[in-house]
Parts: sequence; C-alpha cells; structure tokens
Amino acid sequence: MKYYSTNGKAPVADLRKAVVKGLAEDRGLYMPERIPALPQSFFERIQELSFTEIACTVANAFFGEDVPPEVLNRIVGETLAFDCPVVPVTDRIFSLELFHGPTLAFKDVGARFMARLLAFFTKDSGEALNVLVATSGDTGSAVANGFLGVPGIHVYVLYPKGKVSPIQESQFTTLGGNITAVEVAGSFDDCQTLVKNAFMDAELNDALHLTSANSINVARFLPQSFYFFNAYARLKALGRADRLVVCVPSGNFGNLCSALFAKRMGLPVSRFIAANNRNDVFYQYLQTGEYVPKPSIQTLANAMDVGDPSNFARIYDLYEKDWGRIRADISGAVVTDDEILATISACYKSNDYVLDPHGACGFKAISDGLRPEETGVFCETAHPAKFLSTVEKAIGSPVAIPDRLAAFLKGEKQTVPLSGSYSEFKRLLLQSAT
Ligand SMILES: *Cc1c(COP(=O)(O)O)cnc(C)c1O
Repeated sequence: MKYYSTNGKAPVADLRKAVVKGLAEDRGLYMPERIPALPQSFFERIQELSFTEIACTVANAFFGEDVPPEVLNRIVGETLAFDCPVVPVTDRIFSLELFHGPTLAFKDVGARFMARLLAFFTKDSGEALNVLVATSGDTGSAVANGFLGVPGIHVYVLYPKGKVSPIQESQFTTLGGNITAVEVAGSFDDCQTLVKNAFMDAELNDALHLTSANSINVARFLPQSFYFFNAYARLKALGRADRLVVCVPSGNFGNLCSALFAKRMGLPVSRFIAANNRNDVFYQYLQTGEYVPKPSIQTLANAMDVGDPSNFARIYDLYEKDWGRIRADISGAVVTDDEILATISACYKSNDYVLDPHGACGFKAISDGLRPEETGVFCETAHPAKFLSTVEKAIGSPVAIPDRLAAFLKGEKQTVPLSGSYSEFKRLLLQSAT
C-alpha cells in the first residue's frame, strides 16, 4: 500500500516511511491510496468472530502487503491485551468503553499498535529513533506507556504546564527510562507547534532521527477502527446493530476519522455525530462550510481542547473537500462545561452509569441527536477516575480509583521545564542525543 500526502506536494510513501516520518515533507498527513472494502461475507458473520479475529482482518486489509502475517497478528494480539466492551446505558444508547487499557484511555490502542509497528520497521537499522509527541493529556501517557522500554527508541512528551490533570501528568512524568517529559510554559497548541517546527528543521533532522506519535501517524489512527468494527459485531449479536449512529467526542479528530474509515471499508453505520466541547471549530465548519482555526479554550474535557484539529485535513480529503457530503455523514454538537457537569450528574442518577467529562460530551450529543428508530453508541474515551475532582463534584460521591491508576500516582515526577521557545527545545533535543 502506498500513502499520499493530503497537501499533494510530497512524493507517495510506503508504509515504513509513512510510519517512521509521521508527517509528509509538505506538512500534509498521509492517507492510504486505497481504502480496501471488506467482503459482505465478513459482515454477515462478524458477530461470530472475536475482537482479535476482527482486528486481524481489518489490519490485514491495510497493512497485509507490507507486514508479514505472523508479525501483524502478533502486533494486533499484543495491542489488544484488554477488551473494548459495549455496555448499555439507556435502552437505546450504548457506551463503547475504550478505557480498559494500561493508561485508561482510548489512545492506548493506537499507541500500542504504533510502538510495535515502529519497532518492527526500525529494529534492524541500528539508528536511535526519537519520538516527539505533544499532548493535551492522554496522548502523552498512552504513547509513553506504549513505548516504555522499547529498545532504540526515546520518547519526548511535551505538555502544557498546569493544564493537565495531576493523574494524567503522573502517567507520563513518572516513567523514567526512555521517556522524557517536557513541561512547557504555554498551551497545547504551543506544544504542537514546537513539535511541528522540529520536524521541519532540516539541521535537526540531519543530526537526529525524529518521528511523531500524534494522531497524525497512520499507525495510530488506522488501528482505532478495530473497536468500531468490534462494537458493531457485539451489537449485531444483540440484534441492535440496525440504523446505528456512532458518536465520537472529538479533539484532533483522529478517533472520528478512524470510524469514518471503518464505514468506507463497509461497516454499516448510518451516520456519525462529532461531539465537541466549547472548542467548536469543526461544528462551525459543519454550519458554514468554512474552516476557521481558533486558539484553544480550556474546558473540563481537556483532551478535546484543540483549536485546529490536525485530522480535519484527512476528513476533508476523505470526502474530496465536499462540504455537502461531509454534512450528510456527520452532524456536530457543542457541549459546554455546565452541560458536562449536568450530564454526568443526570446520567448517574438515571442510569447508574458514571461518565467521564469526554464521554459526557458524547452521551449528551447522542441523547439530544438520536432519532426514534435509531440505536446509538458513543465512545467513553477515558475512565472517570482520571478526572476525579470533576466527576466527584458532579455525582456527589467518591469514584473508586483502579489499581493501575493508583500505581502511577505513587511514582516520582521527573520533568524538564521549557519556556516555549523553539531554540531552547532544539538545544534540549541536541543535548540529550549526545
Ligand atoms: C484524545 C482524547 C479525545 C479526542 O480524541 P481525538 O482523536 O483527538 O479526536 C477524547 N477523549 C479523550 C479522553 C482523549 O484522550
């Protein structure tokens, strides 16, 4: 499979190059040149297949030409060391729980897959690889934990000082080893700019082997489609998969993008809802047809505080820049902080189900937007205990902290502070490489 850039000015790349480089030379995002359709027979008996069997079929369709089957199946098996169950919340709305991985958030799936694929592609090169990742919370922990201890790879996690919850922070600042946490005096967008500048810096790229692990990497976003196929299979087994609406709480739009790819591969989803917090650039695009990036606003669902979602370029490309077609498949919703709190509280009272602030955006959007004949599934993208104070305030009672989360909190925080200037960041990278 070849991958082209959404900006159309870079040469096509093979999978290895797309995964190792992350971003194309023209700053575009890589897209597979074909989206393979899965056969009707697969969907007819999908409910009889396990999550891993489904995921291996999907992975093979994308990566089968470039990765030997035994390696690919091993990578899928190691990635899915935990389940992504579909749990009923109301009689018509199901939660796709994506928080059962090591860092309790959905990014574990993509990050674990990417770490293993990257290790496969670089194991023979003998050259150290530096992964740069900007995080507004959960990306950093998922990537850092996905790569922890992988030989030949060093990870730099850049995060906005004071804008990440203490629990999130502990998940990437306490690891040590091949993980360096960089605490930037600035916003998430500043962190993302530092990373993007590093990738475009010819001098730095001559000296160091750099790669990205943000949701722009094809090895991170494509595997996220696994759990949408699996959700469909589990709902089909319950006889609930007709007129299915999938709602994705969105920030950089990598997760929604992988759901859209699943539909292109044949997954019978009627339509999608993109739930935003007050960072409503995509919502506004759906209303007006104009994409106008804005500075991000801090909200209770902070992993969705993104003012210029990077995967917009992929969605735009996937629908051939056709606003009408995008609107036909995807509707939007904006959920304020007050609504997040009210939704967590109401859902707990009515359904005895504890939402996290991101899942609350999804649940609110699908509760408001679902038509009578439809069944809805929303992504519960993080465990509520990761946002303890918000959730406890909303439900008025304590939330149990899972053991794997408590273990991070006991670790010692180690970070490198950074003012936010690019030259300082570059110095840091060059120094620690020598
Ligand atoms: C990253 C994240 C999101 C947003 O996902 P995107 O793929 O960036 O749209 C939503 N919820 C949580 C908990 C996240 O960590």
